[in-house]
Amino acid sequence: MPNKKVKCPNCSHIIDISGNFGETVKLTCPSCGISGKVIFGDSRSKKEVAIQVNNLKKVYGELVAVNDISFKVNKGEIFAFLGPNGAGKTTTVEIIESIRQPTEGNIKLLGKDIATSFNEVKEKIGILPQEFKSFDRLTVRETLKFYSQLFKKRANIDDIINAMDLKDQENKLYMNLSGGLKQRVGVAISLVNDPDVVFLDEPTTGLDPKARREVWNVIAGLKKQGKTVFLTTHYMEEAEFLADHIIIIHKGNIIAEGSLEDLINKYGEGSILNIKDCKTKDAVKILQENGLEVNESTNGDLKIKIDFKDRVLEILSILRHECIDYDSIDIRRSNLEEVFLHLTGSKLSEEE
Ligand code: ATP
Repeated sequence: MPNKKVKCPNCSHIIDISGNFGETVKLTCPSCGISGKVIFGDSRSKKEVAIQVNNLKKVYGELVAVNDISFKVNKGEIFAFLGPNGAGKTTTVEIIESIRQPTEGNIKLLGKDIATSFNEVKEKIGILPQEFKSFDRLTVRETLKFYSQLFKKRANIDDIINAMDLKDQENKLYMNLSGGLKQRVGVAISLVNDPDVVFLDEPTTGLDPKARREVWNVIAGLKKQGKTVFLTTHYMEEAEFLADHIIIIHKGNIIAEGSLEDLINKYGEGSILNIKDCKTKDAVKILQENGLEVNESTNGDLKIKIDFKDRVLEILSILRHECIDYDSIDIRRSNLEEVFLHLTGSKLSEEE
């Protein structure tokens, strides 16, 4: 039976509950005694599915590039397929786009089986391929016009130019744009048919941090327009910033799936409040006596696990009341790098 944690609205005590999805669970707070009801909801199960991948396998000669993976992407979400180089991301996304053929498995895209009915949905998707390049001697506006003519359904080009923040560049030749602007044009091209689902394969690879942020803002805007975004990336910050739903793929296998919160809660250290240079001798004992999980690191800093946000105020109050002396404090949240390290034993940023 699924479990959840809920916060008592009266005293903020955290209560563990279990129930079936959709069930109304009656509960009484063990701390203050107030009673109430909670609907045990599963928000994901109510959403419509845009992409359903079942038991997908792709073998190249001796190499199993994608090993029997299954997952679904809901409509309207930004989905990040995160993994190091060679994990199987492009193979998977290009099979969904019908560019490559699977060895085994089946895929439904917007409710249609792509093996038999891809033509019925191909006008409803937009694609930014990996290492995208366009025509050097066309301007941004000419480029969008050219691609738009390939489709029956056409979005308004001015709307795309404005949404992608390309107004100042619309008459510049593609060859004269910076790397970040070229990628923005690439995302803009993927929108010329006003698609329901947009596939972006490594949209920010090779960009500097500023250009990467600009592309992220453009991608976040696609969600606001109601589009489903399938993003492949090897940048964990990209998945952290953008994604509602993340799958980590490693050597062709799905090794974790969930929201950023889910993954951090399950595989990360959670949030840690770090007390630097603590000068009070019995600080660890005092904090532990107050019910806190404290670890002393080799440099003498005290690390306290924060399992919910009100803990910070509680800790500050204890430090003050117990006159614990220290230099400074900071709060660090777990990230996907830590999640990946926990799952694979190596850092995502260092995998090749
Ligand atoms: P990258 O970001 O580097 O493209 P990826 O996660 O997208 O990585 P894929 O491109 O899907 O990974 O490649 C998965 C594995 O399959 C890699 O080992 C790659 O060398 C291999 N591979 C990909 N395409 C082919 C092909 N056409 N023939 C043989 N092997 C291939």
